[in-house]
Amino acid sequence: MVVGDAAMAERVVSELRAACATPAARLNEVATAMEEEMRAGLREEGGSKIKMIISYVDNLPTGNEEGFFYALDLGGTNFRVLRVQLAGKEKRVAKRESKEVSIPPHLMSGNAAELFSFIASALAKVVGDEGHNNVFDDKQRELGFTFSFPVRQSSIASGTLIKWTKAFSIDDAVGEDVVAELQTAMKKQGVDMRVAALINDTVGTLAAGRYNDEDVVIGVILGTGSNAAYVEEASAIPKLEGESPKSGNMVINTEWGNFDSACLPVTEYDHALDEESLNPGEQIFEKLISGLYLGDIVRRVLLKIALQSALFGNVSHTKLKTRFILRTPDVSAMRHDETPDLSVVAEKLAENLKIRDTSLETRKMVVEICDIVTKRSARLAAAGIVGILRKIGRGVPGDERRSVVAVDGGLFEHYAAFRECLESTLVELLGEEAASSVAVKLTKDGSGLGAALIAAAHTQYQH
Ligand code: ADP
Ligand code: MG
Repeated sequence: MVVGDAAMAERVVSELRAACATPAARLNEVATAMEEEMRAGLREEGGSKIKMIISYVDNLPTGNEEGFFYALDLGGTNFRVLRVQLAGKEKRVAKRESKEVSIPPHLMSGNAAELFSFIASALAKVVGDEGHNNVFDDKQRELGFTFSFPVRQSSIASGTLIKWTKAFSIDDAVGEDVVAELQTAMKKQGVDMRVAALINDTVGTLAAGRYNDEDVVIGVILGTGSNAAYVEEASAIPKLEGESPKSGNMVINTEWGNFDSACLPVTEYDHALDEESLNPGEQIFEKLISGLYLGDIVRRVLLKIALQSALFGNVSHTKLKTRFILRTPDVSAMRHDETPDLSVVAEKLAENLKIRDTSLETRKMVVEICDIVTKRSARLAAAGIVGILRKIGRGVPGDERRSVVAVDGGLFEHYAAFRECLESTLVELLGEEAASSVAVKLTKDGSGLGAALIAAAHTQYQH
């Protein structure tokens, strides 16, 4: 009986391994499909699954910015309020204070007014705490607002929400101008602040990366969700209306999370996760890659094994049927478990899933499942980056320019095996020579800092 269980489980794992396989040939197809989607999205609104949103950020920060600026970074899990002092070319970010607040889950599916009121009250508190740090005198405070959801931008400081993603679903906010909603909520809280820029987190990461290194051309988010932005030539954007910026460049928020293609290695677990999600049929690439989902994919595999074998005991005594009970940081901890008896795995299984008394063999199998799901994610993210590099003709043999990819997000920052796999896959896909001109750089909190920098670049005051 026990032998039968192990064989049964091994079959599930080997099917998973095959379904998640991402050999270089397949990743090249993904990169090509991504590049084609990007071209289609640049041609016309609605021309592709990925939106290729023009950001209206035509002047990225130069380093000369000066003064105090606020930023508000609304991600998928937390939001952060930042206050930075920019001190010009030499001193750069002279001071940086931040406060992180986790978003109560009930606000993610309530109404817009409640969410923005919660945010504005946190902002009011930070402003109220300025005390003797109040350097604004009679100047109005200025804020960069990072809003990490797809927005149709109408100017640098306005835009309407296209749809929610990740764990958010607040119906009455869709189609509304998120800056207007924030301004209304701030007014109610007595906060006098001007929203100088509305940006996506990818654009913020790109800007913050570029502020420190002018070779940064791509910004990527690998956190709760996943997305990328990059610097595009205005002349390569057929759908661009009006005048081209002086620089000749525009920042494009790809919204690659919504990428979908027959070449993606999608499994039965992904289909089930998608069907039960808040946004079925959407954000397929994001669901294969990002931190909100990896833990739940692993849980679904474990559940299947539990239903077919006795390896995890009686399923109804476990929490394997509870969605999102296993989180990506748990997957990361299990994947990194270096204890001889895999005691971290034992602890995570017990703590999160109420699975006890597993054999070492079973725990090894769990590590392997974590590894398969993680590798697929990291390798697909690398393929997406290669798609963008190809679109802009960078990282190809003969290209002398250095190209830097700025990355922000907890998945990339805290999960070493993920990071290493992403980096080695880039080398595998680009080839040693071309890859030597491409660098991936963690740009911690870039999405927030970038908003402050872009606000500074769009200040109403002359320096
Ligand atoms: P947001 O997307 O809300 O801006 P972050 O960039 O801070 O958030 O990323 C948070 C996400 O990062 C979490 O949802 C989680 O999935 C992932 N994460 C955090 N810590 C780890 C970790 N140790 N290992 C793997 N993933 C992690
Ligand atoms: Mg974020």
